[in-house]
Amino acid sequence: MATIGKKFLEVGGWFTALVSLPPSHLGFDNTFNSYVKAFEVVASECRVAKELGLRVVCFAGIHPAAVEDEISRQPKQSVKVLEKALAVIDYIAKLIRNGIVDGFGEVGRPHYRAIPEAFVVNNMVMVHTLTLAKDLNAPVHLHLEQGGEATVIDIVKTIKTIDVNRNKVILHHLSVATAKASQDRELVFTIPGKYPILRECAGLLKPTYMVESDFIDDPRRAGVSSYPWNIVENQKRLLEEGLVNEEYLYRINIDTIVKLYGVQPP
Ligand SMILES: [Zn+2]
Repeated sequence: MATIGKKFLEVGGWFTALVSLPPSHLGFDNTFNSYVKAFEVVASECRVAKELGLRVVCFAGIHPAAVEDEISRQPKQSVKVLEKALAVIDYIAKLIRNGIVDGFGEVGRPHYRAIPEAFVVNNMVMVHTLTLAKDLNAPVHLHLEQGGEATVIDIVKTIKTIDVNRNKVILHHLSVATAKASQDRELVFTIPGKYPILRECAGLLKPTYMVESDFIDDPRRAGVSSYPWNIVENQKRLLEEGLVNEEYLYRINIDTIVKLYGVQPP
């Protein structure tokens, strides 16, 4: 985190939301205790980022891909995996109450074809998380299938049923079509900071969204999405090309973040 954080600050970065990596990325197994260890790792990385001078919001979650991976290997163990996942989410709620982390993330549903048992377990985990998030008034980063309007209609309904604050439910890494559908129904979301996506969204969306690198701090897969400094470079390019103005960039990079995460502006 120290190296990445410094480089991000150098290009003008000021805010980061860090989410926990699945235990398997850290060389652990999938047990409850390994999740506890993975959350210690993210909390300590968040402290490092804060000490560097970044504003930081810290998330712990149980990634849908990790749930899918476990269940696809042992579909008969689905209920055991569900019970563990719910216990992990309850544990995260405790960490939030104690001020160790700020929110839940990532949780949700896989973006690729998953076996039905994994899909339904992940959905139950998501509903449980949103229910706890409501009481804690904590933010949630949702990782979802990119189902365009269908995904968005389902999430809007779920938010209404649970009665959770919709500004606390952040749909992460959306495709352009799902982003558009989300904005039309007033959901909050991020898009990946790759140049072609930023360019398309700049012409299509009002500046109520956020941009993320989805950077994976895993040496085996570093930069699999993009690097945090790339999202700064790509937005500068849009500005130079006259595709956005400063006001637009100010709103997505500062206004929206301040409003959604309740952090102090830079
Ligand atoms: Zn994700």
